[in-house]
This record gives sequence, C-alpha cells and structure tokens, in this order.
Amino acid sequence: MNDDEEYFYHPLENIEDVDLFYEAVERNHLTKAISPERPYTYWTIELYDQKNGIRGGGGLGILAADTRRVAEDMGIPFVLITPFYPYEVHQEIQHGQVADKHIPVDYKKFGFHYIDSVNVKCCNTLCKLDVIEKKFNSTRIISITEPNFGELYSGMSGSDHRLYQEVSLGFGGYAALKLVGLKPAIMQLNEVATFFAALARLDELASNGMDFYEAVVYTRKHTLYTNHTLVQAAEAEFSREQFDKFVFPNLKSLAVKKWLADKFTEGRIKLSSVTIEIAELRSGVSKLHARVANYRDLAGNKVKFKAITNGIDMNTWVLPSLMDYYKSSEIIDNYTMPTVNFEERLENLTADKIRMFKSEGREILNKVLKNRPDQYGRILRFSDEDFVFDFKRRFVDYKRPEMPFRNPVRLRNILEERGAHYILAGRVHAGDEEMSGKLRALLELVDSDEYLRDHVHYLTDYDETLAYGLSCGANTAINVPIVGLEACGTSWMKDVANLNVLISTHDGGVADGSINAYFNVSGADEEEELDMLYQQMEDAIKTWDNDFDLEYVIRRQLSAFLPVISGARMMQDYLDYLFPK
Ligand SMILES: *Cc1c(COP(=O)(O)O)cnc(C)c1O
Repeated sequence: MNDDEEYFYHPLENIEDVDLFYEAVERNHLTKAISPERPYTYWTIELYDQKNGIRGGGGLGILAADTRRVAEDMGIPFVLITPFYPYEVHQEIQHGQVADKHIPVDYKKFGFHYIDSVNVKCCNTLCKLDVIEKKFNSTRIISITEPNFGELYSGMSGSDHRLYQEVSLGFGGYAALKLVGLKPAIMQLNEVATFFAALARLDELASNGMDFYEAVVYTRKHTLYTNHTLVQAAEAEFSREQFDKFVFPNLKSLAVKKWLADKFTEGRIKLSSVTIEIAELRSGVSKLHARVANYRDLAGNKVKFKAITNGIDMNTWVLPSLMDYYKSSEIIDNYTMPTVNFEERLENLTADKIRMFKSEGREILNKVLKNRPDQYGRILRFSDEDFVFDFKRRFVDYKRPEMPFRNPVRLRNILEERGAHYILAGRVHAGDEEMSGKLRALLELVDSDEYLRDHVHYLTDYDETLAYGLSCGANTAINVPIVGLEACGTSWMKDVANLNVLISTHDGGVADGSINAYFNVSGADEEEELDMLYQQMEDAIKTWDNDFDLEYVIRRQLSAFLPVISGARMMQDYLDYLFPK
C-alpha cells in the first residue's frame, strides 16, 4: 500500500473541528516520518554549490548547500529541489570598472544524470523541463532545467520570467519528485519563491479525492516556511493576469483554484501571504530575526516565527587540520556537535596552536589569491607576520561595506601603524547601479591615497573559494550590518570557526551570543559606531600581538558561538521542530 492509498483507507472527511482533525491525523499515524521513500524535502530557488555546478548569489544558497551536506553527514534521507540554471554570472574588472560575465554551464560535467522530462503550462503552451538528478549517500539534488531557463534572479523580482522560474520549480519539481517515486515527509520552503511546490501538493491531494479542507490542513501540517527577510512590505507582488498565465493553468482542483483566487487583494498577490496560509510551520533564521520579522497573515494577525539559527557545514568551511583538532580533542563530536565539556576543552587551545593553524590557513589563502588579482591586477601574498583584515560579503547597502572608509585618515593610521592590509571582497548584484557607484567611489578614494592604494585590496567575483580562503587566512573579520537588518549571516561563522577575531555589530546570528563574546561595534548613532569600529580594529591588532589576549579572545568566541555555528545543531533544531516527540 503506498502512502496515497493510506490517506484514503483512513478517511478523514467531514471533520469540521481542526483539533479533532489533528487527533484523527495522529491516530492514523499520518504524522511525518522520514524514510528513503518519504524524505525530508528542501525547496530552494537558489543553491550555492559550485562543486556541483550550481552557483548562487549569497547566503540563501550557501545555507541550502550546507543544509544538504549536514543532512548527508547525519545520514538523513534528504532531497533538495532547485533549478539548474544554464548560465551563471561572474564579475571581473574591466578598465577599472566591475563588469558582469555570463558563462554557460553543462550539468553533465557535474555528475548530474538526465531522468526524464516534465511539463508545466505557461501562456497556453506546454513548457518542457528536463529533470536531472545527482545522488550523495542519503541525500540527492533533483533539478529541473531547460535551455531558456535563464539565470538566477534574472529580470525584476515581480516579472513574468521570475514567475515562470518559480512556477517551474514548484510544479515541475513536484512532478519530478513523483517521477522518481518519492513523497515528501516534510516540505521545507526556503523563502517564498518556492511557494508553488506546496501549492502543487495541495492540488494533488485535493484533485485525487481528498476532501479539500483536509488537503489544506494536511499540506499545512507538513510544510515549513523558512523566512529570511525582515519586512513583508519590500516583497514584490504578482498580478492576477500573471497568475492566469502561469499558475492557474497548472491547477487541477477547482476548490484549490477558488482558494487561491480568494487570496488576491485588489488584483495583486504577495507570495508571503499565501505561503503563510499554506505552511503552519514557520521559522526565522536567528533569534533576533525571528523576533523582529514583521509579517502578517491575511486576517491581519502578526505571524510568529520559530527561531532556528542558521549553522554552517563545518566539514566544508573549517581548515581540515583544525577540524581534526576540534574532533580529536573532543571539542565537537563526529557530527560536528559541540560536546558537553567543550568549553573546558578549549582551554588547551593555546596561542601557539592558534598561530600554527593561522599559518596553515594563510598558505591556503595565498593559494587562492594566486588566481585572484586585486583591483590593480596585483597578485597578493601574505607572510605569517602580516596582519590582514577582511570584509567579505555581498555588496549591499545594509551591510555597509564602505563604513570603514568614512574616515580615510583614521583608517590609514590604523593600517599604517602595523603595516596591516585590508581585503574587501564582495559582488554587486547585477543591475544594482547605486551599489556599483558606491564601489567605484570607494575604489577612487583608495586610489587617491598612496598608503591605502598599497594596503587596501578589492577582490572581485566573491565566491565560496574566496570565502574559505579569507576565513582561514585572515586575522580579523569585519561584519557591520545596520542593526536589525541582517537576518542571520553565515560569513562570520566561517571566521569564528577558523580562529579569526570577529568585529561585528550585534545583529543577525551574532546576536544569539552575548555582546561580550566578540569585539562589538555599537553606539547611539553612526558616528559613535564608527568610532567604536576603529577602536576595535586597533584592539584586534593588539590582541594578535599578545599571546594571552589572543587565547582569551579566541576561546571566548568559540565558547559563545560553536553551538550556534554547528550545522548539526541547526539540523537537530529543525528535526525537533518538525518531528516533535
Ligand atoms: C558564506 C557565504 C555567504 C554568506 O554571506 P552572509 O553575508 O554572511 O550572509 C555569501 N556568499 C558566499 C560566497 C559565501 O561563502
């Protein structure tokens, strides 16, 4: 008996009361249980996993890749469903300006196998999508793709093409899952662009004989919406006309069509509002973010998000010899979960060891830098004695990449006193004219000062390799988002795990820890914050020149943040939330 039959052999119809319905669900063992045939499914429009041929845009995709890898390490049956984009965007410096470069990608070169094709209906035609798959132990990636699928985040966020991509992932991905004979135990929606996957499931249940009301409750109970955005207002909307072209033709159930049609306000729809309706389980990506995310359901009630702070796959991001050290000294276990006594065990992490790991990390950084010239085409190479600050993240306004440059004289003095270098790495989102302008102005400012010109390096085409090299090889990382705007951030986790000293505002996942756990930047206004940033940069330099201070600072960071950083901890939190005992 397959699972679909199971639903119908235990009919649940005519239950008006939701609590009664849930009781019936429990009684009939229709609760979620993971198995290879009924895996944990994870839906994401963005995956950042270059080893497997898929390049993302930032943190959302990195999180997706790390979540799958952690699931693999833990042996969890897990399927990640995402588009395979036939082109990817890179950035390079041409004539002193950052320019985009579009490179075709062939999935066959990355170990994906073609399975079959599925169709979605768009604008009165059938669009054929290839289903491709790659397996990794207990996990796999299933992708849908076609030659004109376009690039990640191509076009405006409310455009027809984006809707086409999102509908293809949802309906096409759901059909692909059936094609390989899988049924989701749970559907985790990594942001609202994946809403259509849950809609496809609702439609399947409702059009196959399940009472509509039951189908809604069933779908809601098995769907987790993970939110990464702070304000609903900023989200793009789609029109009824767009849905008439791309969405409604893919629905079979009249009741589902009616349900969806009711969700429009003045002919427009926000995907978050329907995602909230279809997912009873909802999470935010750090404690602070879950508290401050300001979302309302269609009835106007504030939405509560369960805080499940992001983690990283430490096996991917941490220097291998340091990882061996963490494991052999039982600071973390084989699943990368911090041990009960990990704080005591950190007492053996001496300055000598920290410097030894940093020296190894610097070699890795130097190797990475061989292929990554700075804005002047210089190939950088750092010795163990050099001091390196790094700022590496997407070039967006709220992350304030220009903040340390607001007082160039002071920055110059800090760097000059120690002969320190400052590395800036980050991509401007394609088409973001404002941030391109800010980056250009910043590079001009650096160019106008003889000392900064030699000691500030902008590295283009920020990606995983650069992120890894910099977190292993730099001394001090700077993370200064405007407080309240970073959902979690994971770059800083790579830094802390790799024994970088962290200078940060108290925001995102950093705010899961205490304000005393790292070099905090705060103040009543931006001027005070800036002053504190410079003071902390001076202190960070002093810290690295004193063994006692270095041990104290690194141990303090790890004590506070190892449990946050651990991807195994994140996965355990998800499992506890999704499958309560
Ligand atoms: C880790 C990582 C990120 C995450 O960035 P945050 O700004 O911390 O969210 C983004 N891009 C790349 C390439 C990364 O390696």
